[in-house]
Amino acid sequence: MSECGCETVTEPAMKPLEEALELLLSHARAVSGTEVVPLAEANGRVLAESVVSRINMPPWDNSAMDGYAVNSADITGPGSSLRISQRIPAGAAPEPLAPGTAARIFTGAPVPEQADSVVIQEVCRQEGEQVLIDEVPQPGANIRRAGEDTRVGQAVLESGTRLGAQHLGLAASVGVGELTVYRRLKVALFSSGDELINPGQPLGPGQIYNSNEYTLQALLQSLGCELVSLGIVADTFDATCDALSRAAAQSDLVMTSGGVSVGEEDHLKPAVEKLGSLDLWKIAIRPGKPLAFGHIQGTPFIGTPGNPVSLFVTFCLFARPFILKSQGVGESQLLPTPILARADFDWPRPEKRREFARARIQPDEEGVARVSLYSSRSSGVLNSLTWANGLAILPEQQTLTRGDMVRFIPFSELLK
Ligand code: AMP
Ligand code: MG
Repeated sequence: MSECGCETVTEPAMKPLEEALELLLSHARAVSGTEVVPLAEANGRVLAESVVSRINMPPWDNSAMDGYAVNSADITGPGSSLRISQRIPAGAAPEPLAPGTAARIFTGAPVPEQADSVVIQEVCRQEGEQVLIDEVPQPGANIRRAGEDTRVGQAVLESGTRLGAQHLGLAASVGVGELTVYRRLKVALFSSGDELINPGQPLGPGQIYNSNEYTLQALLQSLGCELVSLGIVADTFDATCDALSRAAAQSDLVMTSGGVSVGEEDHLKPAVEKLGSLDLWKIAIRPGKPLAFGHIQGTPFIGTPGNPVSLFVTFCLFARPFILKSQGVGESQLLPTPILARADFDWPRPEKRREFARARIQPDEEGVARVSLYSSRSSGVLNSLTWANGLAILPEQQTLTRGDMVRFIPFSELLK
């Protein structure tokens, strides 16, 4: 059926997005292999074993500021004068504080025993061996306590976490130098269509460039997948069967673009059915209604539509969470978190399908986030995706008026 948005005939029952997603995710199994990698190579990987701290962090009480470590009872009022008995830079191992004295101390240095506070240097004046202190400190002032951030035995990173800069920094801070991560998911992909040629060559009659391959590759790379590309596969049943079995034999997941409709030139459905099993879903979303899911010789298969924008949207909504789960990512991190912003448009006609509209969010003069829509709804226009910075979710069977709240998924949530 056409993607032009002009169909008015009654459509066969379409699956709600939630139902399709739940079904799809019920088939996702985390890869079983793991490997141990140094922290420097763990960015973007998925943690397979939780990390428990074997140390307190900080390991000892330390100074939060440059100043003077004192026993607060020794400061009787502004202008109290104390002898400076030691100097403690970061990295030093101090002596206990001599009674009635102050220690010059710097940020991150251990607070000496017998000192209960640090007075910041801005309220002190050093005169030779003495320091004049103009502020009476509270006990505990400017001290970061041992174990304040992390305690011995505390789980700092849960298995199933997609590792980023913040996780690697935390692991390093508790002294962990390598992590056990899931092995990378291997995805085999190809594009179906006799009209396709790869960029870099002149266009022949009837040809278009194979853009989906590059969109798909980049989407998979952002998820840390290992890729095997079989390139462009001809629109014949035999070529499709051959490509599918070669793809399945060397991957954890087969992904294709195009050929999932039920036209005469769409061979994926019969080919997957011959080699394994297939469900072809009509999902009540737009763009991207058709989505194929199945198994080929035991390997899962996801077939996305050929229209470039439909491919992008179905990947983000369905393939992405499936891949994350197959990589061992925890349930709470599979789906993007939409935000609410004000519609800068009217949506006057209720639609049967939920629309994931290419949209741009930007602040107005008052700093309020407003969402505007791309001028065309055609699922072929790739310019719409570079114009947009996310997808606005326009609920089925509803209208919206400018100023209404609308849900928006930033691309930053989908392309990471
Ligand atoms: P299909 O899903 O094969 O019916 O294709 C739907 C539309 O997407 C057609 O206009 C195709 O020419 C286009 N299309 C299919 N595959 C690709 C691709 N790899 N790159 C760009 N456009 C494509
Ligand atoms: Mg085709």
